[in-house]
Amino acid sequence: MNIKEINCKTALTSSKLPEADYCINPYIGCLHKCVYCYACFMKRFTNHPEDWGEFLDVKVNAADILNGELVKKSKRKGSIFLGSVTDVYQPAEKKFQITRKILEVLAKYDFPVSILTKSELVVRDINLLKKISDCEVGLTITSLNDKISNIFEPGASIPAKRLDALAILKSSGLKTYAFVGPILPGLTDLKLIIPTLQGKIDFIMFEALNYGKFNSDKINLAYTEAGSNIPIFSNINWDEIESEARELSQIYRIPVKGFYRH
Ligand code: SF4
Repeated sequence: MNIKEINCKTALTSSKLPEADYCINPYIGCLHKCVYCYACFMKRFTNHPEDWGEFLDVKVNAADILNGELVKKSKRKGSIFLGSVTDVYQPAEKKFQITRKILEVLAKYDFPVSILTKSELVVRDINLLKKISDCEVGLTITSLNDKISNIFEPGASIPAKRLDALAILKSSGLKTYAFVGPILPGLTDLKLIIPTLQGKIDFIMFEALNYGKFNSDKINLAYTEAGSNIPIFSNINWDEIESEARELSQIYRIPVKGFYRH
């Protein structure tokens, strides 16, 4: 595992996401190593010979750089998404605390913030998150099964810890959401997941699996490891899955913010 400290020139980048003006990625790379990861294209912008998931560049000066950037933008408060091509609470954050330092800056300027993570470590920063007046925190839930989670998201917190994190964040008064995605056909059990989320979140989002050349081999291998047949992905009826997701969310009175497809 190659973990390297680097200095970055910029911290804020313009966002292509529909609900954020800017993104901040405190790390390059991600040691959560999800087999379906869509951020692996980032490897070509690095000099790393290692596979995606085997290296991490830590932007040790990101908070200082951000401070300088936000001074100039303090009158135009765009929304900021933390972690579009990395997980801001991956294991190295425990030691380096780059995300924590970034939150200190964001709290000072009080920009709207949205975070999505697969790690229970986010609860460490509740005191800072509560200082930001417009802040929402999401946890990704693709399965409640430890074995499936360990196969598909080997470096991330187990599902029970993510659910606990959501409950703790919510009871501390923060706005919370669950990101159920990517939905793994045949493995992501919406009938189990959605009721479990009731009372822990303010809204829910879903995402269809993006199965492409960049991740198909790894996904096929993971299905086999999980003891499941590999679905014929081109035949998946996403309309049916979306209807089920929306119906169950309605039954459990959880507002749906979107069902994203590729
Ligand atoms: S947590 Fe996100 S960025 Fe990290 S490996 Fe998983 S999908 Fe990729």
